[in-house]
Amino acid sequence: MVVILHTENKKAVFFDRDGTLNVDIHYLHRPEDFIWIEGAKEAIKYVNDRGYLAILVTNQSGIARGYYPEEDVRKVYDWMNAELARIGAHLDALFFCPHHPEGKAPVYTKVCDCRKPATGMIDRACEQYRIDRSKSYFVGDSDGDMECAKRAGLTGLPYKSGSLLACVKDRL
Ligand SMILES: [Mg+2]
Repeated sequence: MVVILHTENKKAVFFDRDGTLNVDIHYLHRPEDFIWIEGAKEAIKYVNDRGYLAILVTNQSGIARGYYPEEDVRKVYDWMNAELARIGAHLDALFFCPHHPEGKAPVYTKVCDCRKPATGMIDRACEQYRIDRSKSYFVGDSDGDMECAKRAGLTGLPYKSGSLLACVKDRL
């Protein structure tokens, strides 16, 4: 007997947060300080409409450094999704790395496998959502993001300036 497992290989676009979706002010942790990058919400909608999962992957060493709790990262994420909902867009999941080798909070102070350019967040997302890496992308503003994309087997889409929608549309 042949058993066919129903495995759906999804495609995804991973987004960095600071400097890619919002203006990077360093250690952002309050919605009131969040300024969307031009075309960022529309880029997420574009990705949604084309059947990609839209997944946020962000290094948040401010947690390890004791600047803000994990809860704040989730609050900002929920606020982003409320904003996105107004244009019929959404992020499907949030993965964040709270660690840093030189943190203050002992539980978060370590060399981990998830701080980009390490691929732990991508690996977990791919496993959880059964993502086909060969059909998936990583949009980010830093060299670390592009290095992470490369190591994780994703196509890296570097964002520098201007409209994020234009950057994403160019390649997808
Ligand atoms: Mg960034």
